[in-house]
Amino acid sequence: MSHISFSELKDWVHCAFYHKLTRVEKIDGFTGNEYTAFGSAIHSVCEKKLLQEDIETDFFVKELKKNISELDEEHEINKKLVLDMVDQGKRIIPEIEDALNDYFEEFEVMAVEMPLYEPIDNEELQFKGFIDAVVATPDGKVHIFDWKTCSWGWNAKKRSEPMVTYQLTLYKHYFCQKMNIDPKNVETHFALLKRTAVKDPVEFFRVTSGPKKTENALKVLNKAIYNIKNERYIKNRLSCTSGYGCKFYKTEHCS
Ligand code: SF4
Repeated sequence: MSHISFSELKDWVHCAFYHKLTRVEKIDGFTGNEYTAFGSAIHSVCEKKLLQEDIETDFFVKELKKNISELDEEHEINKKLVLDMVDQGKRIIPEIEDALNDYFEEFEVMAVEMPLYEPIDNEELQFKGFIDAVVATPDGKVHIFDWKTCSWGWNAKKRSEPMVTYQLTLYKHYFCQKMNIDPKNVETHFALLKRTAVKDPVEFFRVTSGPKKTENALKVLNKAIYNIKNERYIKNRLSCTSGYGCKFYKTEHCS
């Protein structure tokens, strides 16, 4: 183990045994679906918009089709959903620039897809990640944000869920370490790209990532590292059927 990413940490929190199956034994866990294909296509569009690159009118549709074609052969594609997603993406895309300008007013793009590979304190391993976007505003603040695709939006519970917001907290911590920036000058945000919302398909909102939250996020990270290193892989039965359910539920891998 030379590094840990936030998605690996999330897998471990979800179920340490799931982490073992997918990350240690390398058995394919969740490999993607229409929603992840859509997320990654629209993410590519956002990246290009931030970099002010020219985008062909059918760029999004081409990306979506490519991502769908790369899904696991065993995954049965919901064609109606994909057609709906083409329209949903076309509704979101023209709103991205206005939403950025309304939220930050004046800003300069510092980085897009910024890689992080930072040493973790007291450990011989690195924290690995990619920050979707980093922008600077004239008040001297630096803003880190992450694009998230969703259906109608996120409720209050989701917006403050620790294992959702810790992503930004950890990105901020290791970004400040990498750039040697005072965390007081860095703010974190999510940018929601809503497929089915009737209005405001692009919404930015701020997530606080102060010292206490950073301490809590690092505690979870260190706990995961300790348990992974000691090969302690406890089954979290609460996660077997929650959400979309675990693909290993009642299989030879996890009965
Ligand atoms: S079926 Fe349940 S216990 Fe087994 S790996 Fe999945 S979440 Fe963990």
